[in-house]
Amino acid sequence: MKTAIFPGTFDPFTVGHASIVARALPMFDRIVVGVGVNAGKQPLYTAEERVRRIAELYRGEPRVSAVAYDDLTIDLCRREGADFILRGLRSVKDFEYERDVAAMNQRLGGVETVMLFCEERYACVSSSVVRELISYGKDVTEFLPR
Ligand code: ADP
Repeated sequence: MKTAIFPGTFDPFTVGHASIVARALPMFDRIVVGVGVNAGKQPLYTAEERVRRIAELYRGEPRVSAVAYDDLTIDLCRREGADFILRGLRSVKDFEYERDVAAMNQRLGGVETVMLFCEERYACVSSSVVRELISYGKDVTEFLPR
């Protein structure tokens, strides 16, 4: 059973995230979206709310599930029996950080990171920009799946 953890903050889960999941599904038997509870960050949506929304979105796709976690991604991998971490790459800005985290996860957890390049049409979509638009009362439905 090939399982991948797709870790992130997902505050909120956007069409960019959904695109990564959809494109990675042919590669894995199971994808677990790991919703990070980052003590240092004050989220717009609680972890429970983020998990609930993602679970609802994938109600018809039993191979995708969502779980909150507040420890290391490699520890979540161990709990879920996952040998892979899935991440999306938008730009060179993401690259160096992702490379370092991937190297550490490989070294400490023996877990390989699979990166997918972002679809060009979603390159400008980030949770932080969506949160900012929400704070100004803008309609963000085009950036949220379904
Ligand atoms: P984090 O705080 O860990 O970066 P995010 O929720 O912002 O968590 O992102 C989770 C993952 O999704 C990351 O790998 C990020 O690069 C990727 N991602 C975010 N937005 C997009 C997008 N528009 N297209 C493709 N991948 C994306």
